[in-house]
Amino acid sequence: MISAPQRRLDKSNAQFQRAVKRLPLGVASTFRYWGDERTIYAHHGKGGRTWDIDGNSYVDYRLGYGPAILGYADERVDAAARRGMEVGGVFALSTERELIVAERVAKMVPAAELVRFSNSGTEAVMAALRLARAYTGRESYLLVEGGYHGLFDAAMWMANMDEWDAKSNRDPEVVPYGKGIPETVKHLAHLVPMNDMQRLEDTFRRHGETMAAMLIEPIQGNCCAISASRDYVQLARQLCDQYGVLLIIDEVKTGFRVGKGGIQGILGVRPDITTFAKAVANGYPISLVAGREDVMRSFRYGGASHGGTYTAHSVSLAAAEECLRILDETPALETLAGYGERLKAGVSQILSARGITHSFSGHPSMFGLFFAEAPPDNYRAWKTSDYTFYDRMAYYLHDLGIIVEPDSREPWFMCEAHGLDDSCLTDTLKAVEAAVELTL
Ligand code: PMP
Repeated sequence: MISAPQRRLDKSNAQFQRAVKRLPLGVASTFRYWGDERTIYAHHGKGGRTWDIDGNSYVDYRLGYGPAILGYADERVDAAARRGMEVGGVFALSTERELIVAERVAKMVPAAELVRFSNSGTEAVMAALRLARAYTGRESYLLVEGGYHGLFDAAMWMANMDEWDAKSNRDPEVVPYGKGIPETVKHLAHLVPMNDMQRLEDTFRRHGETMAAMLIEPIQGNCCAISASRDYVQLARQLCDQYGVLLIIDEVKTGFRVGKGGIQGILGVRPDITTFAKAVANGYPISLVAGREDVMRSFRYGGASHGGTYTAHSVSLAAAEECLRILDETPALETLAGYGERLKAGVSQILSARGITHSFSGHPSMFGLFFAEAPPDNYRAWKTSDYTFYDRMAYYLHDLGIIVEPDSREPWFMCEAHGLDDSCLTDTLKAVEAAVELTL
């Protein structure tokens, strides 16, 4: 009989009590709040592990929501960042390194013909949508249910599943993510369910002539790694061409992670615009908007406005140069995907031995674990499924020294360092086995 593990969180709990007086929910980002007694504060990270302020160590599969592609405190990238720091930080001028990074990106991702920099995923997608509107002269756009593209108003529309009846053929209502999103922009957003070819065609037939862009994450990094089929993405490409709509592939999570050429390389589809962020600089804040030359040249005086004080900051840029070099020239991505395969196989063995039906979604470098025979292929299927087993197991995993997102929405992320340290796999599988026993 396994008993629930005890983990001391005295310092995190005390920190929470102080922090909640000064920081809303006691945290810097709402998603970091896990409950008054379960919110933990990081002390430091190294490789594939994180330590909290109580000294508990965790094999970390959140990796800051994906950015630490090589692992925390990677000495190669950090040394480069220090060189970036020495040159002065931020100028109101361009630097040579911007071109070096842009050339590397174009080499790795052929559709990234021209590149612009920004600081976060939100900023990159916001700029991409503006660019598409400037280029096409249209305002509305298409989102895929379950996708997440950042915090700006236009991206914050979702399908309301609360009242939705799976047997009906009608689409769920479109609602904002929380309060503060103006209803006046709602009519610009259209939503379709992932992998439903018929609805995609119907939506283009009805709105294609007025849409500037279709935005899609072919692996939904914020919804259980739900994946688009190759046929679906290719149909999206074809319909975009037919109706003069720009295809924006949001690779904020998949870019420089699932492969050097991103998910677009795997699916064999060429978007007009791509957004990248997380893995570009192993966690230093930088994001990219990249795409077709004629489209990207709409970033100009009199065209789409774009800029920013911290854009192409010398620290992030130097880190990006080194991180992308490593991802391009070394087997880092194979190492981390190989680790993901071994982890999936180990987890599968544990679950199968107990007769627990399960499946995986996404890619070995970022996968979702799902307790059904097949993973959901769209948000409606995920939202109406039973994910309580996962949620309970996730809390036990935290207690046992493994960090995964406390709901099945966020995939498990791998980094190179996981694959270079055998103990990460051993520790994880031991904890998974115990967590499953406790959950049953
Ligand atoms: N696009 C995708 C696919 C994302 O996963 C995220 C963040 N999770 C964003 C955009 C927004 O990025 P940021 O949090 O850096 O603003």
